[in-house]
Amino acid sequence: MGLKFFNTLSRAVQEFAPLDGKRVGMYCCGPTVYDFAHIGNWRTFVFGDLVRRHLEFKGYDVRHVMNVTDVEDKIIRRVRETKTTLREFTGKFETAFFDDLKLLNCHMPHVTPRATEFIGEIVALIEKLIARGIAYQAADGSVYFSIEKYRGCGCTYGQLLKLNFDEMRPGERVASDEYEKESLADFALWKARVPDDGDVFWPSPWGEGRPGWHIECSAMSMKVLGESFDLHLGGEDLKFPHHEDEIAQSEGATGKPFVKYWLHGAHLLVEGKKMSKSLGNFFTLRDLAAKGFTGREVRYALLQAHYRETFNFTLDGLTGARTALVRIDECVGKLRAMGAPNSDSARLDSPGQQRADSEIGAPAALAARFTAALDEDLNISGAWAAVFDWVRETNKRIAENSLSPADAAAALAAWEKVNSVFGVGAAAEAEAPAEIVALLEARQAARKAKDFKRSDEIRDELKAKGWVVEDSPKGPKLKKA
Ligand code: AMP
Ligand code: ZN
Repeated sequence: MGLKFFNTLSRAVQEFAPLDGKRVGMYCCGPTVYDFAHIGNWRTFVFGDLVRRHLEFKGYDVRHVMNVTDVEDKIIRRVRETKTTLREFTGKFETAFFDDLKLLNCHMPHVTPRATEFIGEIVALIEKLIARGIAYQAADGSVYFSIEKYRGCGCTYGQLLKLNFDEMRPGERVASDEYEKESLADFALWKARVPDDGDVFWPSPWGEGRPGWHIECSAMSMKVLGESFDLHLGGEDLKFPHHEDEIAQSEGATGKPFVKYWLHGAHLLVEGKKMSKSLGNFFTLRDLAAKGFTGREVRYALLQAHYRETFNFTLDGLTGARTALVRIDECVGKLRAMGAPNSDSARLDSPGQQRADSEIGAPAALAARFTAALDEDLNISGAWAAVFDWVRETNKRIAENSLSPADAAAALAAWEKVNSVFGVGAAAEAEAPAEIVALLEARQAARKAKDFKRSDEIRDELKAKGWVVEDSPKGPKLKKA
């Protein structure tokens, strides 16, 4: 069955067919590095990671690009307020962003371009728009995109949402990066240097200045992925003006369709309210770590709601995530302890698998139901239902003693496939069953008492059960043999 996504461009769920067969170019609008990313931002980035992982699971060769917005209005304001340099200021938040991305077990995008390293491409793109008569330099020295001229060329402004042009006064301009659709007007591509910009400026054919936010993404995405590519993602607030302006700039310059599928994630609320510092419901990943929650728990919680539905994030929900993960860990831990062969070598169609593939809880059924659900515009609750049906049935069969080691291997292989997309599984050593941990502790006690004969015996016992002990300066570590 084919993969389908809701495409904001067509306002419909559509079959996914990449421009170039198996290769997929995917651009996610990345962080604006003026502060630590908050849990709402993380919802959108984890959604991007889910899309990429599912595409890879389906066999596509994905090129995942996520930019770093390291120059725009908010950043300049903070650089001025903190009296730092642009690079010092953004570098700190960029490092924190990538640390957090790892903590949430998101795959690192293949390319992470910084806007400040693409000034040449940005200038060239603006020159193209000027040459085509779609952009102009205004009296304030800045260069603006002319919506009237663009529409006059037969192009559509307002592809992602309907806009009311009756309100628009031709030639009216908006200089800031963010504005409401009621302020529909020519927007800035290049902003002429003003004293408040401090040291943040570059030379250009139009004098010193800096790029607007929207042109940055057009230039970076087309440079890395080509003039037309498959997927563009972001939070729903980016539809207008950011993404609409990206389409206008790119299609205005190339005359080609910019992006085939636009995917937008709905926003996250905290305890039912919009996040704000004054309400005390504004969480970064660091805030949640200080409350004792792990990246894995946060990732699990963020993967609970369908991406197009508003998600209500609560601390209770995060505690629920912990409980759910323990259920999965216990089941997977038991399967591993059954002496199942390494899951890499296990096969779903293992001959030891006695049951019909369609039976709920059978490894093949888990894989099939999981895939079918995610193929349907990422139906995440259907995918989790498949996982928890499998956990329940697997536990039952373990309790009944009706699972052979080969069955266990097949079950683990199915779980590993699911987990290649969800990315919430614990590392094997973290899942050592209590009995194994107790043996390790007994070995430590024996070593402390200098009873090396006993400690060697325990080591051999652990090995017979499929675990090896690695001694390191930080203490012993358990690993699957
Ligand atoms: P920014 O760093 O502000 O450019 O935002 C990074 C990403 O987070 C963008 O794709 C935004 O659409 C997204 N975003 C911002 N606020 C939220 C929220 N409350 N819930 C979900 N996504 C958000
Ligand atoms: Zn962008």
